Amino acid sequence: MILVTGGAGFIGANFVLEWLARSEEPIVNLDKLTYAGNRANLESLDGDARHIFVQGDIADAVLVSEILARYQPRAILNFAAESHVDRAILAGEQFIQTNVLGVFRLLEAARAHWTGLQGQEKSAFRFLQISTDEVYGSLPPGAVAFTESDRYEPNNPYAASKAAADHLVRASCRTYGLPVLTTNCANNYGPYQYPEKLMPHMITSALAGNPLPVYGDGRQLRDWLHVKDHCDAIRMVLALGVPGETYNVGANAERCNLEVIRSICLLLDHMHPTSRAGGYSAQIVHVADRLGHDRRYSVDASKIMSKLGWRARHSFDSGLRETVSWYLNHAAWIDVAQSRAASR
Ligand code: NAD
Repeated sequence: MILVTGGAGFIGANFVLEWLARSEEPIVNLDKLTYAGNRANLESLDGDARHIFVQGDIADAVLVSEILARYQPRAILNFAAESHVDRAILAGEQFIQTNVLGVFRLLEAARAHWTGLQGQEKSAFRFLQISTDEVYGSLPPGAVAFTESDRYEPNNPYAASKAAADHLVRASCRTYGLPVLTTNCANNYGPYQYPEKLMPHMITSALAGNPLPVYGDGRQLRDWLHVKDHCDAIRMVLALGVPGETYNVGANAERCNLEVIRSICLLLDHMHPTSRAGGYSAQIVHVADRLGHDRRYSVDASKIMSKLGWRARHSFDSGLRETVSWYLNHAAWIDVAQSRAASR
């Protein structure tokens, strides 16, 4: 059994579904079900005894300790987080609560549990922190991609909270010997992403006939990775990663935001034509730039490729087409996700 936290969110739900499609090993899934957590992401697992869902907070030390004592997971994979940069800029406190204090309490509970294990169970135990490339800060144009040894220079409250968490994870290993692993991943895209994030936001806004807001000049470069490739990487790091090590995950697929938005419009023009003159691109509008907006993120994934043999399976173009098609075919899911946010 493994413990996944935040498994009703975008990446966590994809991970749970992918894991149980490949393995009989059960998952206990601890999720607070914030606006971003959605049980509908996991409805295909209803009645599946391999998936045990617990609604709760990673910062609830008593609950986490009870889960660890009851289910005795061999690993904890922490996906739970407040994850949206715009929300962090408007109101950062919940980001500190979950991403920093929550991770600290989860680590403490993990350490107490691990300390009580013996022999093979103890040496095989892992704590895997799912982190982001945003901790490295903004990469200058033309500079080589960030490696695992680059220093952390987070520029927004979300990235700062994730950086703090990564430091706590590292410290748990250096101070107490807790066998931790960290992945720092590029921007993910794919099914089940909450429609406040760039791709689903643009797809849903385009279909609703709303403006497609581009921050600033739209030339901010992001490194895009299909969520299923990220899930593959996490499984490999869990199985083969060296405790105490961090692994960058990215597919060397840098695109600027404006290019991504234009590509989405072109795909929608083809798959779901609009009668408006100029197609969906006519809905693009430039708005004031995000505060502290990083110009470029890019990670060098050669370590996970050479040491663990990971490779991305999705090209950006085919992954984007598949993603646009998924949202077109899941209007009911979009309604549920949007109504969850509206009711909070
Ligand atoms: P998400 O916002 O879609 O999902 C987060 C999940 O965590 C939700 O189900 C939410 O209910 C749950 N959650 C929030 N606070 C919680 C708490 N205190 N206790 C328990 N559960 C809680 O986020 P995501 O995009 O799936 O990201 C998952 C992880 O991957 C995050 O740690 C994020 O920093 C990291 N990450 C995301 C990306 C990306 O592009 N989305 C890229 C790299 C890393």
